[in-house]
Amino acid sequence: MKRTSSNASTAAHEGPLFSASSGHLKSRTVAGGYARITIEVDRLSTPEPGQFVLLRLREGPALPRAFSVLAAELGRLEFLLKLDGTLREALARAAIGTEVVVRGPYGTPYESRIGRDRRYVLAGGGSGIAPLLHFAAAHPELTEAVAFGVRGRAVRDLLPETALAVEEEDGETATDRLRKRWKRGLGILACGPEPMLRGIAERYAGEPGTYVSLETRIGCGFGACQGCSIETRSGMLRVCRDGPLFACSEVPWLR
Ligand SMILES: Cc1cc2nc3c(=O)[nH]c(=O)nc-3n(C[C@H](O)[C@H](O)[C@H](O)COP(=O)(O)OP(=O)(O)OC[C@H]3O[C@@H](n4cnc5c(N)ncnc54)[C@H](O)[C@@H]3O)c2cc1C
Repeated sequence: MKRTSSNASTAAHEGPLFSASSGHLKSRTVAGGYARITIEVDRLSTPEPGQFVLLRLREGPALPRAFSVLAAELGRLEFLLKLDGTLREALARAAIGTEVVVRGPYGTPYESRIGRDRRYVLAGGGSGIAPLLHFAAAHPELTEAVAFGVRGRAVRDLLPETALAVEEEDGETATDRLRKRWKRGLGILACGPEPMLRGIAERYAGEPGTYVSLETRIGCGFGACQGCSIETRSGMLRVCRDGPLFACSEVPWLR
C-alpha cells in the first residue's frame, strides 16, 4: 500500500506503509553502554537524514521499536543504540546473521522541516548523535559545526568519524559545546535525552531556527494510530509523521 501525502513536505518520503523487509545483522561493536550495528536489508528505500525505521527481531518480542539511521546506503543501514531496554540489549547480544524485520523509512526528513536560509550547529547527546551525523554527512552546506556529547570515553571507539565531548574527561557536555559554537544567525538542530533538550529549549527557543528532534513511543510509524501525538502550538501533531523534528517554538511545554 502506498502512503497518501497531504502536503509537499510529506511527499518527499513516499514509501510502503506496512510491507516489512527482511534484514540481517551484519556487524556490531559494543562499547560504553552503546552498540553500533549494521543491518543489511533488501527492498527498502534509502532513509534520508532524520528519518527512522522500525526494527524487531524475527524471533523475539513482537512489537517493533523506532531507530534513527546513523548512515545509509543502498541495502545497508547503520544504527547507534543505547543499551537500555529489551530490543536494544537483544540486538547487542544477537549472533551476526540474525534476522531483523525492518519497516520504513518513516518520518519527515530534517531537511524538509528546516529553513535553508541559515547554517546549523548540530547538538547531539548519546544516541541522539545518530541522525545528526547522518544529516552532517548529507548536508555539509547546512552544517556549521557539531556539538556532540556522551558519557564514557569508550563511546569514542564507536564513532571515530566525529569529535565527542566526554563529560568526565573534558568537563563539558554537548550543551556546553553548543554554547561555544552557536552565535546569532545560526540555527540549532538538537537531538538527545529530554533533559538536554529542555536545557536547549530554555535558552534558545526564542531564537529563530532552533529545532528539536523528539522521541515518544511509536506505534504504527506512519500516522494512523495517533499514539505518538504531542501537543504543539498548531494543535496535536504526530511525532512519527509530522516530526520527529519540531521547531522549538512549537513545543512550549519542553521548557
Ligand atoms: C524517532 C525515534 C528515533 C529513535 N532513535 C533511537 C536511536 O537511534 N537509538 C536508540 O537507542 N534509541 C532510539 N529511539 C528510542 C527507542 O525507540 C526507544 O527507547 C525504544 O523503547 C527502545 O526499545 P527497547 O525494547 O530497547 O527498550 P524498552 O524495553 O522499550 O525500554 C525503553 C526504556 O524504558 C525502560 N523500561 C522498560 N520497561 C520498563 C518497565 N517495566 N518499568 C520501567 N522502565 C522500563 C527501559 O529501562 C528503558 O530505559 C528512538 C525513538 C524515536 C521515537
